[in-house]
Amino acid sequence: MSEERKGPDDSDTSLGDMPAEEFRKYGHQVVDWIADYLANPDRYPVLSRVSPGQITNALPKSPPVRGNDFKEVLADLDKVIVPGITHWNHPAFFAYFAVSGSGPGILGEMLAAAFNVNAMLWRTSPAATELEEVTLGWLRQMIGLPETFSGVVYDTASISSLCAIAAAREAMPGLRAREDGLGAHSDGTGRLRLYASEQAHSSIEKAAITLGIGQAGVRTIPTDAEFRMDPAALARAVKEDRDAGWLPFCVVATVGSTSTTSIDPVPAIADVCEREGIWLHVDAAYGGSAALLPEMKWILEGCDRADSLVMNPHKWLFVPVDLSALFCRRMDVLRQAFSLVPEYLRSGEADEVRNYMDYGPQLGRRMRALKLWFVIRYFGVEGLAARIREHIRLAREFADWVDASRDFERLAPTPMSTVCFRGRPFDLRGDAPVKSGKSGDLEAYLDRLNEKVLESVNAGGEVFLSHTKLRGKLTLRIAIGNIRTTGHHVERARKKLESALRQLDEEMRPAELSNRTL
Ligand code: PLP
Repeated sequence: MSEERKGPDDSDTSLGDMPAEEFRKYGHQVVDWIADYLANPDRYPVLSRVSPGQITNALPKSPPVRGNDFKEVLADLDKVIVPGITHWNHPAFFAYFAVSGSGPGILGEMLAAAFNVNAMLWRTSPAATELEEVTLGWLRQMIGLPETFSGVVYDTASISSLCAIAAAREAMPGLRAREDGLGAHSDGTGRLRLYASEQAHSSIEKAAITLGIGQAGVRTIPTDAEFRMDPAALARAVKEDRDAGWLPFCVVATVGSTSTTSIDPVPAIADVCEREGIWLHVDAAYGGSAALLPEMKWILEGCDRADSLVMNPHKWLFVPVDLSALFCRRMDVLRQAFSLVPEYLRSGEADEVRNYMDYGPQLGRRMRALKLWFVIRYFGVEGLAARIREHIRLAREFADWVDASRDFERLAPTPMSTVCFRGRPFDLRGDAPVKSGKSGDLEAYLDRLNEKVLESVNAGGEVFLSHTKLRGKLTLRIAIGNIRTTGHHVERARKKLESALRQLDEEMRPAELSNRTL
């Protein structure tokens, strides 16, 4: 049974907020809790070990009628919630794309919650709007985009890309999708077509679904041996589609694709877009941060010719989730796609200022820029770059180990800090004889083996990696991007992988692939 809450002097606490003294007391406790957590996240298994429904069953079925003592609420945090947390802040979190809630970012998040402003209009908090403009201006300079781009903060890259694609649709002459909807064009006069590589993130197809373009309106462009979009195939696809009556309107290039961090050849793609009058959106959600490094600036080559570009400070810039930055060269078109001002939101200064509610489907907006401002000010551009550079160095070191290993092989280039690889015991290499001779059997076995290796390594709780499929092969990924990750954590992953592969190959290898006489 939960204890009911009373004021410090047994007074009625049924009205008003938590008293200031109580807030101070628990606030200090919570900050202490966070500081301990961040100092030592290693004490938890990275991947939560709860089973489905376990958290639900540990929580009461109905809400408390009277408020609970906050001491108890915090005790339940440790008892019930923490076991169900997968620790993205763990330095051995190597799955998907590793992210970081850094100290200054967390403090910014706390203050944003305290201010609790709704930054829909400039006047509903001038500081929120102007801080967003200024910090995004800093970020733009940091990654080397020209002043012709302005920025807007959304929650995620999925929404940034959706808004960019809505702007691309708005830019289509005579389409009037905003006014008439897309139904007016289902009479055979042409349907919108969007292009992205087979390695593009699923958020692009989801945006097409949401915006009425449909999955049929997305044409997938093949990639080369290094998983980069083939611009000649793009040019051919656009021509073919125009001849068949489609309306090509948007190309999405990726800088740092999700599976392999491949980098599409943006200059050649921009040539096609300029020639064809098509909006170019660049998804640099993950990769954009690497452009902070002078030696990595090349990855955004040609992006100054894009119409829009998304990058996520909440991925690889140590800003807590969520904060995605969309940079756009045609803010007027983005505004045209979304602005709709009812009387109750009209404000006198609209011509002089930016009202961010005009640049997306949502009205309410959090003061997200505060945490980005804190992070940039605390670490400085050089400090941020140094941390990203170290992640890239650690990934290269891991890739070198894979390349030198007898029993692992790399399945993609490593331009950033994510390595794609798999276990392939030395006697199952292409140049070693395999008794069965059927490569189908071998590939099926390697898929099964690597899946089990991944399961086994993750079950240990000391590291967490994820997988993808490349050219049909089950591929393991190690993504290095957490601010607390060191060589020691990467080494731990390497050792776990080696021993899991050795042991599972012994247990699982079918007789027809046994060739251990080498
Ligand atoms: N684009 C790329 C290249 C990504 O890797 C991801 C997520 O990993 C996204 C978009 C989606 O990001 P978000 O979760 O911010 O929507």
